[in-house]
Amino acid sequence: MSAPNPLVLSSDAAERVPAPLREPVPLPADHLESVSAWGMSTRVLSHVYRPSTVQGIRHVFTLARERGVAVGLRGAGRSYGDASLLGENVSLDLTRMNRILDWDPQAGIIRAQPGVTIRQVWQCAIEDGWWPYVVPGTMFPTLGGCAAMNIHGKNNWKVGPIGDHIQEFEILLPTGDVRRCSRAENADLFHAAIGGFGVLGCFLSITLELKRVYSGLLHVEPIPVDNLTEMMRVFEERMEGADYLVGWIDCFAGGRETGRGLIHQANYLAPGEDPHPAQTLRVQNQELPDTLFGVFPKGLLWRFMKPFTNNVGMRAVNAAKYHLSRRHGGSGGGHTQSHAGFAFLLDYVPDWKRAYEPGGLIQYQSFIPAAQAHAVFTEQIALCQRRGLVPYLGVFKRHRPDPFLMTHSVDGYSFALDFKVTRANRKQVWGLAAEMDRLVIEAGGRFYFAKDSTLHPARLERYRDEERVRKFLALKRACDPENLLQTELYRRLFTEK
Ligand SMILES: Cc1cc2nc3c(=O)[nH]c(=O)nc-3n(C[C@H](O)[C@H](O)[C@H](O)COP(=O)(O)OP(=O)(O)OC[C@H]3O[C@@H](n4cnc5c(N)ncnc54)[C@H](O)[C@@H]3O)c2cc1C
Repeated sequence: MSAPNPLVLSSDAAERVPAPLREPVPLPADHLESVSAWGMSTRVLSHVYRPSTVQGIRHVFTLARERGVAVGLRGAGRSYGDASLLGENVSLDLTRMNRILDWDPQAGIIRAQPGVTIRQVWQCAIEDGWWPYVVPGTMFPTLGGCAAMNIHGKNNWKVGPIGDHIQEFEILLPTGDVRRCSRAENADLFHAAIGGFGVLGCFLSITLELKRVYSGLLHVEPIPVDNLTEMMRVFEERMEGADYLVGWIDCFAGGRETGRGLIHQANYLAPGEDPHPAQTLRVQNQELPDTLFGVFPKGLLWRFMKPFTNNVGMRAVNAAKYHLSRRHGGSGGGHTQSHAGFAFLLDYVPDWKRAYEPGGLIQYQSFIPAAQAHAVFTEQIALCQRRGLVPYLGVFKRHRPDPFLMTHSVDGYSFALDFKVTRANRKQVWGLAAEMDRLVIEAGGRFYFAKDSTLHPARLERYRDEERVRKFLALKRACDPENLLQTELYRRLFTEK
């Protein structure tokens, strides 16, 4: 008799409560490490294992099962909140699974282990004239982490999330089975594990298609805008002709200037437009410089940012940025910039998050349908100002729906807000997030687990009742009947207390 297929749900599977792991037997203390959320606002102690082979991953699963502890998958740990953390259990760090398995420079298709970073991908491909369709604002995340969160870029309305460009993957289920998944094979698991925040199985390899580019440069145009109405008007007007659009918002500005900021539109160069493509496509000409003005080591810059990382300093920095952009931007023309320079702006200052020490930062990003976005984001900004907790950075993007089960995307806009966390304001920041959650839920919006730190299950009731979430949790029970794969985020939002 063949073994039961874990992906076929038995009729009672959806109702079954996952079996608890056995009574824990302590793991040896020599793997104990402090593991932090990227935003440094949460930290846990875990038994960290960093296998470099599939056999090694299986071994960690077996060890955890024998000891009665759970396993949290972790890539580069670039999720802002607790999505890649699992305290007092096993943290399975995939960063040593970092080999590119295959690269086809004619077709632009790469097959790689899950710990390969976005940086490795573009460095492998660019000199052959390819660039990833979707990259986040930093190049250090792993492919496994990006697939598990189904990340989006500054072109989400145009090309969808990274999942839209994954041809297939292999995944190791906690049951020990390996499944190959694509749109044609195990399609349900394909659409659930992409964006499935690492609790269905561990990606072992990912096959990704890349985009043909004819130059290492983009044409970039800055467009200053006076308020949110204008920001949204420019986005709507330019969506068709732009390859990338991203808005920065000065969250300190209020009244008629609420939502003022700067949009950057970027476009690929057409074939023949760049007279020296072989030069501009060189990895060396994409790399971000290590020094500022050729002399000042950028590794030290965060220390100079630190005195400004407070309300007074950030109000001034935001206002200066806006007024400078008004003076210099919008005159038409624009400039060229490397792909890496445009895409990974947040990597320009290494370790910039350390300016937020000791309490760290969280990011609050909500996704709102287009018709409600103006009202919700205006109210979010006003709320932050009323509560005296103004985000130091606000980033605005356009999105489109996608076919993945746990999608965070909508036909609308997202607004990402960075909040400084201190011992004194922590409770207020979480309270403010709860107020903003209500606006998001009322507007039929969505949340993004890669950024989340604050969501509470009580506020997720309506969301958890959704058919797709029920389907996801049923698949979780089928793929992982022992509930081996967990994270702090999963425990916070999806397990019965
Ligand atoms: C400065 C900055 C800018 C960012 N900009 C963007 C942006 O523009 N757009 C965007 O969408 N995101 C953005 N992000 C978020 C980031 O892209 C995601 O959090 C991404 O998931 C991080 O990848 P990681 O390798 O660090 O994964 P981790 O943060 O370590 O883990 C993320 C999730 O993946 C799971 N996971 C990891 N490896 C595997 C595996 N092999 N198999 C199954 N599950 C796995 C983990 O359990 C966890 O749930 C940004 C983050 C930072 C710090």
